[in-house]
Amino acid sequence: MNLEEISGEIEILGYRRFHARQIFSWLAKGALTFDEMTDLSFELRLILKEKYKIFDAKIIQSFCSKNDSTVKYLLSLEDGEKIESVAMKYHHGYTACISSQAGCKMNCSFCATGKGGFSRNLTSSEMVSQLQTMAADMKIRFSNVVMMGMGEPLDNYENTLKFLEIVTSERGMNIGKRHVSISTCGLADKIYDLAIRKLRLTLSVSLHAPNDKIRSKILKINEVFPLDYLLKACETYALSARRRVTFVYAMIDGVNDSSDCARQLSKKICHIPCHVNLIPLNEIEGGEFKRSRSERTMKFCKVLMERGISVTTRRSLGGDINASCGQLRFRNNLRARDGLRQ
Ligand code: SAH
Repeated sequence: MNLEEISGEIEILGYRRFHARQIFSWLAKGALTFDEMTDLSFELRLILKEKYKIFDAKIIQSFCSKNDSTVKYLLSLEDGEKIESVAMKYHHGYTACISSQAGCKMNCSFCATGKGGFSRNLTSSEMVSQLQTMAADMKIRFSNVVMMGMGEPLDNYENTLKFLEIVTSERGMNIGKRHVSISTCGLADKIYDLAIRKLRLTLSVSLHAPNDKIRSKILKINEVFPLDYLLKACETYALSARRRVTFVYAMIDGVNDSSDCARQLSKKICHIPCHVNLIPLNEIEGGEFKRSRSERTMKFCKVLMERGISVTTRRSLGGDINASCGQLRFRNNLRARDGLRQ
C-alpha cells in the first residue's frame, strides 16, 4: 500500500492519519513485523497483526561475485514463485536491480527470462520486498533502483507505478526519482503515458537494432510497436521529462554490430536527447547468439561518437555468477523439473 491507502485503512479503523505515516516510515525502514513499530500503541499493533500482513521474500540462494561486489539473489514468493534480484556496488552507492514479473511474456530471442516462460505479475509489495530483503541481508541501504530484472515493467504498469511511488516517497525510502530507472523493451503506448505523468524517471529503452528487419528478428514486440513509432514515443518522453532517454544496445555477433548498423542507428536517433549504452551480450545456455567481438564493438562505438552521439560501453558486473536476470530461475526450474536437488 502507498501512504494514501494506509491512511484510508487507518481511518476506517478509527485511528488518526499520523499513525499511517508512522507505519509507512517503519515499512520504509524495513520493519518485517508490527511488533517492531514501537511508537504505535499495543492495541493498534494487535489489530494490525490480525488484519494485515507485511510481505517478506525468502532467500533461496545468493551468489557473491568474486570479481566485484555484485550479489545475485534467487528469491521465493509466498506462492513458491521464484524471482531474481541483484545488488550492485558502484562508487556512488548500492543499486538494486529488481524484477517486475515472475517470468516474462515478451520472449526476446536472446533473453533467458523469456525462455523460462511467464507465470504472473508481481505486486508492488513483492517489488518493495526485493529491496528490503537484499538491504537486510547485506546490511546496506540502496541509493538507486533499476527495474532491469526479470519481466517487463510496463506490462505490469499499475503495480510498477505504485512501487515507484512508494520507493520515491519523501516519507518513505526517499530514493530520488533521478536515481530510479525503468527499462522497457518498447511498449510505446505506456511510454506516452509516462510522458503525460511527468514522472521524470530515467527511461531505458532496449533498442538493440537500427531497423525493423533486425529488431523484429530479436524482439517480438517490434511487430506491435515498430521502431519509428517507438522512437517518436521516446522523443516525446525525453522532451516532456526533460531527461535524456538511454538506448540500450546489446552487441550480438554478426546480427546488429556492423559499422553500417551504427550509421543507421545514428541517423535514427540523432534528433532525440539520448545516450547509447552498448552492452556485451550475455550468452545464455542453448542460445543461438554470440557476443560481439570487442574490436567490432569498439568500431561501432567510434562510428556513433563521430556522429555526435553520446555513447558508453557498459561495464558488465557479476559475469561469473550468472547475474544477468533469468538465468538462475531458468536453471533452477530445469533442475526441479528433472528432479535434481537445488
Ligand atoms: N523487459 C525490460 C527489462 C528487463 S531486461 C527490457 O526489456 O528492457 C533488462 C535488460 O537486459 C534489457 O535491456 C534486455 O534487453 C537485456 N538483456 C536481456 N537478456 C540479455 C542478454 N542475454 N545479454 C545482454 N542483455 C540482455
